[in-house]
Amino acid sequence: MWQRGRVDASPVDVDLALLGGGGAAALVLAALDRHDVAGLRIAVVDPVHKRGQDRTWAFWGTPGGEFDPVLSASWSRVDVVTPAGRRVLPLAPLRYAMLRSAPVYDRAAAAERRIGAVRIGAPAGALHDDGHRVSVHDPEGRVLLRAGWVLDSRPRPPQRPGRTNWLQHFRGWWLAADRPVFDPDRAVLMDFRTPQPARGVSFGYVLPVSDRYALVEYTEFSPAVLADAAYDAALRGYTGRLGLDLDTLRVREVEHGVIPMTDGPFVTRPSPRVVRLGTAGGATRPSTGFTFSAMLRQADQIARALAAGGPPVPAPAYPRRHRWLDAVALRALDRGHVDGVEFFTRLFDRNPPERVLRFLDGVTTPVEELAVMRSTPWLPMTGAVLGDTVDRLRDRLRRAATGVPGAGSRAAGRAGS
Ligand SMILES: Cc1cc2nc3c(=O)[nH]c(=O)nc-3n(C[C@H](O)[C@H](O)[C@H](O)COP(=O)(O)OP(=O)(O)OC[C@H]3O[C@@H](n4cnc5c(N)ncnc54)[C@H](O)[C@@H]3O)c2cc1C
Repeated sequence: MWQRGRVDASPVDVDLALLGGGGAAALVLAALDRHDVAGLRIAVVDPVHKRGQDRTWAFWGTPGGEFDPVLSASWSRVDVVTPAGRRVLPLAPLRYAMLRSAPVYDRAAAAERRIGAVRIGAPAGALHDDGHRVSVHDPEGRVLLRAGWVLDSRPRPPQRPGRTNWLQHFRGWWLAADRPVFDPDRAVLMDFRTPQPARGVSFGYVLPVSDRYALVEYTEFSPAVLADAAYDAALRGYTGRLGLDLDTLRVREVEHGVIPMTDGPFVTRPSPRVVRLGTAGGATRPSTGFTFSAMLRQADQIARALAAGGPPVPAPAYPRRHRWLDAVALRALDRGHVDGVEFFTRLFDRNPPERVLRFLDGVTTPVEELAVMRSTPWLPMTGAVLGDTVDRLRDRLRRAATGVPGAGSRAAGRAGS
């Protein structure tokens, strides 16, 4: 059922409203269908009905998930390349996978039809949560709908700026060749032979879907985006480094993105019946920008909880200690305590690949995390730990003095727009 905005005087009344119908919501809809969540009135509110190809998700996991049949490619080993050499990482029992957005949005649309969700093609504005139901307003302040629970994945910045505020910014070219130039069995996870920025770290990567078609991307982790032409120049440089002759290749599609890498707090539960998901809900790993696996995990938890008659509240995307480790790592990179290339190289050199990948997904045990920490340059990292601790205390004292509440405070009331 499709409604453009508020079409009649009486607002829609549902059990569950998804505000934002992008990546996080698509995965929730698919999970609700997969877990046969029945008997719930559900609405999806988004001025845009996402379809087709607008991004490519790369992620790792164990084979066998719902999206396996529609993966564009998957690799059981990946390369990490530094100026010193190439390291091949066997990933078993995990694998690195590529999923384009079109089949995910298609799957979400099919799920939406099957569970009989109402779609409202309008922007949501402010929310008012009285602890029992949530009123969702439109940007003009009229009530758009009422819901028992709201899953809100509308983009928003963290509650306050972090102590380190970097961005993962990237541009990729889908390159098509007339003859075999790519090895479809070999994906490059990170190739640090790109010129390194003065502050930050850059790398290229290659995700081949066949011997004639691949996504080749240039990525930077740094404080600010580049001028448009600089991404193309970097990609030209990197494809040259790979020995690819651009005169013989066609750029079929361009993919560009900016993802926050910050230790600023994302409030996951702004009020009792509002849960934030996706990047807005802290699912983006601050040290890498990877988001997909956490969104997938949380979507599954939400669907399982609803199927069991419980509230749709997932576990935090990452344990608190991981957010702290990420804050320290970001600080060490930003303040120049450690060199970015050396940091990532040591991580992969001194740990089994599976441990690093599970760590980056936020699912390792404290013992494994200790091993990961020991593999980083410990003296500079200790400096970053101390600096982070001092800044945290200073922030806390400043907030206490000015009466600003801490992150994650829960109260009935306005959950914001
Ligand atoms: C190009 C690109 C490539 C990426 N690749 C990867 C990757 O390889 N691996 C990985 O782990 N992560 C990746 N990410 C990061 C992350 O997985 C994606 O950004 C993901 O789409 C985040 O999902 P989301 O639901 O939080 O946000 P989005 O998918 O951006 O969805 C937000 C939705 O909110 C809607 N909206 C906005 N305002 C309103 C409003 N007022 N009311 C209602 N709806 C509203 C928007 O229309 C949109 O549909 C990538 C990001 C980008 C941009």
